[in-house]
Amino acid sequence: MPAPVNPRIALLGFSIECNKFAPPATKAHFLARTYLEGDDIAREARGPTPTMLPETPGFVAAMDAAGPWQSVGIALAMSEPNGPVEHDFFEELLATIERRLTEALPVDGVYFCAHGAGLTTEEDDPEGVMFERLREIVGPDVPVVATFDLHANVSDRMVDLIDAFIGYRTNPHLDMRERGEEAAAVMRELLAGTRTERVRVRLPIVPPTVTMLTAAGPYADTIEFGQKRKGPEIVNVSVMGGFAYADTAKNGLSVIVTTRGTRSDAEKLAREIAQFGWEQRARFYPKLTPLEEAVEKALAAGRDAALPALCFADVADNPGGGGRGNTMYLLRAFAEAGVKDALFGVIYDPDLAAEVHRYGLHYHFDAVFNRTETTKFSEPWSAPARVASLSDGNCVGRRGIYAGLRLALGPCAALAIGGIIVVVVWHRVQCADPVFFEMMGLDIAKARSIAVKSRGRFRGGFDEFFGPDRIVEVDLPGLTSPVLSRFDWIRLPRPVIPLDEGVEFSLT
Ligand SMILES: [Zn+2]
Repeated sequence: MPAPVNPRIALLGFSIECNKFAPPATKAHFLARTYLEGDDIAREARGPTPTMLPETPGFVAAMDAAGPWQSVGIALAMSEPNGPVEHDFFEELLATIERRLTEALPVDGVYFCAHGAGLTTEEDDPEGVMFERLREIVGPDVPVVATFDLHANVSDRMVDLIDAFIGYRTNPHLDMRERGEEAAAVMRELLAGTRTERVRVRLPIVPPTVTMLTAAGPYADTIEFGQKRKGPEIVNVSVMGGFAYADTAKNGLSVIVTTRGTRSDAEKLAREIAQFGWEQRARFYPKLTPLEEAVEKALAAGRDAALPALCFADVADNPGGGGRGNTMYLLRAFAEAGVKDALFGVIYDPDLAAEVHRYGLHYHFDAVFNRTETTKFSEPWSAPARVASLSDGNCVGRRGIYAGLRLALGPCAALAIGGIIVVVVWHRVQCADPVFFEMMGLDIAKARSIAVKSRGRFRGGFDEFFGPDRIVEVDLPGLTSPVLSRFDWIRLPRPVIPLDEGVEFSLT
């Protein structure tokens, strides 16, 4: 069958990373980030500063560049990482997708922007459910191409029901647009008649997030190995590290190969990459800095200007992994020790942010953090503070994951607490972009230390100030602690690395 001249491609998506241990995500969380239906999807994707992550804009731009097509917008729901999605909203979204997709038929192809680590309050494989429903509607022959975050936990349905599986290769995620463009190229090929086979191999390794960087380390090496082994028949090789805190039966580092050749070739390659990943297993254990040592380092940086400035990452309270962005362990320790010339960001506390906006600049008061406790880690703490600056929180991301994105953080404030300036935000966000300090008039280059509530994405934003040798990952309690033994796992497949002894893996 020749490729359709003006193919109709459905655009849809469901993208959220869910931490089973965090409070539920509601429809409001999606509305606050990206919730679009119909033609608004392509319109927003083609706009100068889209609110959505860059996969869909990349897909749309590459489709536009490659020739005529018609975008058929269905629904796209995207949220900041959070807890499991309230199941009623998921059902509502599913019904909207079903209705709009059915009305839109016939379509020639489907592009689905997924994350892959979604959960609902009742379902551990919402992406699999969505793919099943959409496959029922479009039938077996319409190409479905999906992109995934590399934190995706991959089920069989997520591989079998689509025609091409395309996962990010960078962490922090800097290739989202590129993967969207790749999805468009694959879509064009599928429209011209190419058919694929997909194979997945899962390893009994649930890598702690901090061991899943792609600049260097065991995960970087496995991804690189996969890309190097990719022959001409291979459409895509994706190595998905997964997201431990989703706590599902589908957790585990997975290799997914999409091929235009034979299934046995794809199987051979997937196994070869999995074997390589398995050989790296001893390297998937995190190495964090104890709090006392981190405080010493920050004090020393403040005392001695000859020492390099440092960036402290509170990896255990990462809003990008469902953390609340409000634990006080690091801030309190820095403040009580008298750390000087430090910037701290960003603390999610809408009550405090709103309160501060009733005061003027330079107002002195007792700042009470976490007056509404959201998790067992979000303990209240108060300290004498001065209002150092105020902002309406409207900004455009400058570097890393938020670059070029329009962000509305709500009323924000910078508070001086001793020698530390703390940025408090109204909307929960990961401190992955220098703009969150800069919009408050703060100069990162002049700080002797900064602390960020982020696990890894800050690296892509703050790299112009802090190279890898200046980053200190601090060991603290929290919803996203990389020390996985501190969690009560229910669904995670066991035995598994790094939690258990004597884990075995065999390809036979
Ligand atoms: Zn991710």
